[in-house]
Amino acid sequence: MEKWPLGVFAGIDAGMGVKLEVVSELSLPTIQLHAPQPATRTKENADKFLARLRELGIRITVVFAGFEGESYADIPAVARTVGLVPPQTRKARLEEAKEISNFTRLLDVDALGLHVGCVPHDEAAPLFADTVEVTRSLCDHCRANGQNVHLETGQEPADVLLRFLETTDRDNLFVNFDPANMILYGCGEPIEALRKVGGRVRSVHCKDATWSDRPGESWGAEVPLGEGDVNMEKYLRTLDEIGYRGPLTIEREIPQDPRRQKEEIGHGIRLLNELKAKISA
Ligand code: MG
Repeated sequence: MEKWPLGVFAGIDAGMGVKLEVVSELSLPTIQLHAPQPATRTKENADKFLARLRELGIRITVVFAGFEGESYADIPAVARTVGLVPPQTRKARLEEAKEISNFTRLLDVDALGLHVGCVPHDEAAPLFADTVEVTRSLCDHCRANGQNVHLETGQEPADVLLRFLETTDRDNLFVNFDPANMILYGCGEPIEALRKVGGRVRSVHCKDATWSDRPGESWGAEVPLGEGDVNMEKYLRTLDEIGYRGPLTIEREIPQDPRRQKEEIGHGIRLLNELKAKISA
């Protein structure tokens, strides 16, 4: 497979991600797909969607699970509402994640991504053990579907993530590395984090951000690719160092302004193509 094919985070219904028409207009060969709503997740829709992707020459590399009731309003809201960590929604969400894994299989995709939630930084916390247990259950379900699980990074420092992966101890559990999240959540310098978790990285987001003046307490700001504190050249060079050859998936969520979103993604594509040429030269 070609090294570092470009891609974008995309969606097929009212959820997150850019629309397929935009992906096609930007001539991108890959997408990560935000899982559609439950009613859309049928065999018939999967077949129709696959036929459309074949027509457009687009390949899905990861399907990302998201859940009703998740809020990214601020860091405490994320801790309270996102992923499989919050106890009150855990059981139902685990079932839904398994169901999304089954839909992912209908799409013939071998990776399920998700924000597992804010893994407690203290390994002795009961919530840490509970999160390990629910993640094992999801990994085992995905294994039966021939899939890996990719955890989105950023809501915990690299060391915590590594301990979590080791404790969970599943050989189909990997990382979707998002350098901007490390900054947004104040969870550590992204390049250093990438070197630490490098062996586990199976997919990545290309996203940029600036640090908050109170890291870990309030959000940093998400900004167009190349304008933030990630240092995209260093990011790509580090991906090269760790031997990552998979897709470079641009993630830019500004659904309120699709025109600006498309422009910025176009700019991101040009930047990544320049850097790819420079690094392989
Ligand atoms: Mg991301």
